[in-house]
Amino acid sequence: WHDEVLSIVVVGASGDLAKKKTYPSLLKLYEENLLPKELTIYGYARSSKTHEGLRQHLYPHLIKTGTSEHIVNSFLERCFYYSGKTYGDESAYTSMIGDLAKFESTSESTVANRLFYLAVPPNVFGESGMVIKKIGMATTGWTRLVIEKPFGHDLDSCNELLKTLSDDFDEECLYRIDHYLGKEVVQNMILFRFSNPIWEPIWNRKSIESVTITFKENIDTNGRGGYFDKFGIIRDILQNHLLQVLTLFAMEPPENDDADSIRDAKVEVLKNMEIISLDDCLLGQYDGYSDDSTIENKDTNCPTYAALRCWIHTPRWEGVPFILQAGKALDEKLCEVRATFKPAKTLASVQSVSKKIEPSELVLRLQPNPAIELHNNTKIPGLSTSPMKSKMTMSYEDIPDLSNPDAYTRLLLSVMRGDQGSFVRDDELRRSWEIFTPLLHAIDDTGVRPLPYKPTSKGPEERVKWMEKMSKATSPLQSSL
Ligand code: NAP
Repeated sequence: WHDEVLSIVVVGASGDLAKKKTYPSLLKLYEENLLPKELTIYGYARSSKTHEGLRQHLYPHLIKTGTSEHIVNSFLERCFYYSGKTYGDESAYTSMIGDLAKFESTSESTVANRLFYLAVPPNVFGESGMVIKKIGMATTGWTRLVIEKPFGHDLDSCNELLKTLSDDFDEECLYRIDHYLGKEVVQNMILFRFSNPIWEPIWNRKSIESVTITFKENIDTNGRGGYFDKFGIIRDILQNHLLQVLTLFAMEPPENDDADSIRDAKVEVLKNMEIISLDDCLLGQYDGYSDDSTIENKDTNCPTYAALRCWIHTPRWEGVPFILQAGKALDEKLCEVRATFKPAKTLASVQSVSKKIEPSELVLRLQPNPAIELHNNTKIPGLSTSPMKSKMTMSYEDIPDLSNPDAYTRLLLSVMRGDQGSFVRDDELRRSWEIFTPLLHAIDDTGVRPLPYKPTSKGPEERVKWMEKMSKATSPLQSSL
């Protein structure tokens, strides 16, 4: 594809995502010479703008990336803008695709590929897809569509959304972004686990007591409460990002390293996961949440914190609680996976030491300061025989000249390479909503009140007892064995 012609159409080019993520990521790939030489980027939206107007609109966001002015300007020369009355406006698309085809026809290459990035809300996916199918499809190369969350708000709306595009496009054309799958530590999980044979014998219920996947934000809704209130923390973070990380952690070794083998292995985890109920969860809302002027319902029960316990009924994980927790306005910014190993039992001499021996832990930290850490007990140096906790760390910050591109940059490159392994497949998405929809409907229908917590705290106070209980419990299936 690198020697072929590439046309990229950013649908919704006037919006927030386009200026903050899509164009800056394309710029990065352009700067690294990872895009074809014969490249043109067409922006499309309803707002009226000239080509120059789009360039001026994007310029401050591109220059902020640290790329030199010379490269930013050279990139912008390849960017054009077209507007239409709607996202299904056939005459506007005819004019844009006509220019795009003229550009393709000037090339000596016989293959011309087209990438459509839908940076628009899902209510216009259907009309966008229809007009792309009718007017925009490549005739001598591939056509790929990139789509952004939210992929529905429950199982029914997800199915509807899947149908709007599956009528017109095969699954192999569709790239659903979950940007957590583009984070360095997440991209490393498969290689780390399967290329180091020390892990496989202990990556299971015999050695692991519990797995906790945590997302914490130390900022509140920051004036975007009106948007957040429609979704809540479970739809915003747990059902998608944290569940994706869980499936990668928990999956069986994929049969091959191709995209579908990896996604098959992830789907198997989801198929074996128990549907989550209200009894499996602890909900919180920080004090002052509804003071956000953009929130209309001042009596909202929208959770801004949630902790859930999940069971995976496979021989590898039966009885091991997987805890997912996420919250806004907490004490720190953090995202990590923490596998807690079973306590030591063998060495009487070790048990006799006065200080309690803590369980070993493997921590995969996504942010901040991405790292992989193994927490172990070692002897306090010197004359003492007591244990202390020590860390073996692989910190990305310590790697010299490390290039750590943004998740969107990695994922866009994968789209162009045709590698779907880091994108969410339709069956994966459907099953993830099956697991979460009963809980989400129960929260909406029962009006259950989340527990209050203070901004900058660790979450509701009840969390400590809840965690203690939930991370020890055995699954219903195991207790009935
Ligand atoms: P946005 O700025 O609200 O929308 C993008 C563009 O779509 C707007 O400039 C607007 O362009 C058009 N648009 C907005 N609302 C519309 C409506 N109701 N009907 C028709 N057109 C509409 O949204 P965004 O932040 O760029 O995000 C785009 C999509 O990506 C959304 O689904 C969002 O949830 C998702 N997303 C965004 C981010 C982010 O960081 N922003 C992150 C993850 C996912 P015109 O009026 O010019 O047509």
